[in-house]
Amino acid sequence: MSEVYFSNLRASSDREKTVEKVSRLFKRAKLADAITDRDLVAIKLHFGESGNTAFLRPQLVQRVVELVEAEGGRPFLTDSNTLYVGSRSNAVDHLWTAARHGFTYPVVNAPVVIADGLKGNSQVEVDINQKHCRTAKIGAAAMEASAVMCVTHLKGHMMTGFGGAMKNLGMGFGSRAGKLEMHSGMRPKVNESVCRGCGNCASHCPGNAIQVKERKSVINEKKCIGCGECLVVCQFAAMEPSDWTMDTTALQEKVVEYCYAITKGRKEKFGYITFIMDVSPYCDCASWSDVGIVPNVGILASKDIVSIDQASADLVNKQMGARESALTGAMKPGEDKFRNLYDFDWHGQLEYAEKLGLGERDYKLIQVK
Ligand code: SF4
Ligand code: SF4
Repeated sequence: MSEVYFSNLRASSDREKTVEKVSRLFKRAKLADAITDRDLVAIKLHFGESGNTAFLRPQLVQRVVELVEAEGGRPFLTDSNTLYVGSRSNAVDHLWTAARHGFTYPVVNAPVVIADGLKGNSQVEVDINQKHCRTAKIGAAAMEASAVMCVTHLKGHMMTGFGGAMKNLGMGFGSRAGKLEMHSGMRPKVNESVCRGCGNCASHCPGNAIQVKERKSVINEKKCIGCGECLVVCQFAAMEPSDWTMDTTALQEKVVEYCYAITKGRKEKFGYITFIMDVSPYCDCASWSDVGIVPNVGILASKDIVSIDQASADLVNKQMGARESALTGAMKPGEDKFRNLYDFDWHGQLEYAEKLGLGERDYKLIQVK
């Protein structure tokens, strides 16, 4: 059974401020064990799409930078480019977006490196021979880093139910080709009764596969590359997978296989910190942020990626649902909030990750004051 350390966000004194809790969690979870002197340490983040405000505050990340430096590590903040056309689809736009969101030297005291380079083609292929992927295409900086601190903002996600550490690491570090591979096979369809013809999907579509005709979105199936981004960017939920169960199960498992590739042969060089605050129903890839589906819960730290994701989901589902939120039910503590948001089973990713030896679903939650 793996250990997951947890602090809530209550504070009534200087000692209880959130950044101090980050330090205590880092120490109690022994995340420093992953770092040796002069290691290049990737701090894996999501800098947030332009317009999103739910992404992690840079001040929290700055504390992680300090902790890594104190262990002799050389930290850098990083993520890979997106597949869809947005504010992070190449390194120039991505760096500008990160800077506009406060991830700059004066705030975080560390450089930002885009893991898969200028146009998302700088990648390392890792042989894995798994059920879905023979190789995984990972942003080169992720594989060249000596250690990784995966710092995650927990939220809902249309294709994986929730976006936790595995989503952050596996999908996030995929290069452009890797992200395409993870999404491939997904076939979106338009729910015309809901579509408002706003054109947001068309302007984000990397395949130029969408046109708006008579105020309804129309997909050209020959051009569609199955990236799934139209599902993420449609704020009216008018885009749906053709087959929810098949599409979401395969994508969850591919994300796990990418985590397997990234950590292969070096699991001890990874540490995980997850913030359960501003739990938006949508990914930080959306150019907006909805209110949290539950109250802010706390911070988790662990060496086990499966345990920290299981604990994160459990802690969210233990809460009372927020009334003025995207939830349409599952308001009582113990009811599955993510299943209410997205009607498919999200547990498969955790089961598959355990099967591949990434970690354990059984965990011991240890409170840290
Ligand atoms: S983003 Fe959604 S509502 Fe807007 S055109 Fe596309 S499918 Fe329709
Ligand atoms: S229509 Fe196809 S290519 Fe375009 S965003 Fe949707 S899934 Fe991606």
